[in-house]
Amino acid sequence: MTRIAVLGSTNMDLVAYTERAPRLGETVTGREFRTVPGGKGANQAVAAARAGGDVLMIGAVGDDAYGGLLRDNLEHSGVDTDLLHTAEGPSGTAHIVVDSAGANAIVVIPGANATVTALGPGEIAAIAGAGLLLLQLELPLSAVVEGARTARAQGVRTILTPSPVQPLPAELLDCVDLLVPNEHEAAELSGFADPWAAADHLLGRVPVVVITLGAKGCLYAARGTEPVLFPAPEVTAVDTTGAGDTFVGTLAVALAEHRPVPEALAWAAAAAALCVQRPGASASMPYRTEIEAA
Ligand code: ADP
Repeated sequence: MTRIAVLGSTNMDLVAYTERAPRLGETVTGREFRTVPGGKGANQAVAAARAGGDVLMIGAVGDDAYGGLLRDNLEHSGVDTDLLHTAEGPSGTAHIVVDSAGANAIVVIPGANATVTALGPGEIAAIAGAGLLLLQLELPLSAVVEGARTARAQGVRTILTPSPVQPLPAELLDCVDLLVPNEHEAAELSGFADPWAAADHLLGRVPVVVITLGAKGCLYAARGTEPVLFPAPEVTAVDTTGAGDTFVGTLAVALAEHRPVPEALAWAAAAAALCVQRPGASASMPYRTEIEAA
């Protein structure tokens, strides 16, 4: 089976549900608290492993109590964590306040993720031996660039999720085979709010772009062909957290299995549609049998 390497973040999401978020200096009593394993890298790894991929996670957790829980969560879904290092100090955390309208305010503290500034020989060999590399932007950019360069030098296909969105250096984009922004990230990166115009612009920098459009589906654009809109299955969404990561992780598995693009996108959309119908991020990601049934 083609191996999928994920070089990315692992966070514990600490979520406080409250009627209304406190103003600075104020204390409010909330309704509920949940700790939810997250981080875009770990979420994509979980989604890919559950979809049937052979997945290896490269990154770091802290030596605190969350570190062990985050590692267990990945392993529970079948992700290889041999290259998920344990760094001295706290794990990455996201402190999230969700109000009764579902609006949120988030403080992300990178913690151990910030220690991943460069790759060692083990990580380089793992990327070189993989068939696909998944990248996001929650690790230091130096490591992301090094991962992409290593993949390019070894002929390993690279998929980049440009989140959290930031200006992307040419040295990174030159090594990306497939860019998967959501609508807002695509607009930010291209300067065009219209996804068709954004895709056209982004194709000047990478050969293939898939812009995810939430309930509307996704726009697939490859150099030299007309962009195609793939609609998403119509479902009732209860929590769209993790939809994009489920989409990318599942898409990676389908591409690793050499499925044709329309089939791979349909698979990714089916998995993401299953994810949004259940609460939570990584916990709501579907397994292969569920995706196939859908
Ligand atoms: P992100 O989660 O990164 O913001 P999107 O909101 O674009 O990304 O969602 C990613 C994918 O998840 C979409 O392309 C779609 O396939 C699926 N998706 C998201 N929201 C819904 C929804 N309400 N109904 C069906 N599919 C959805």
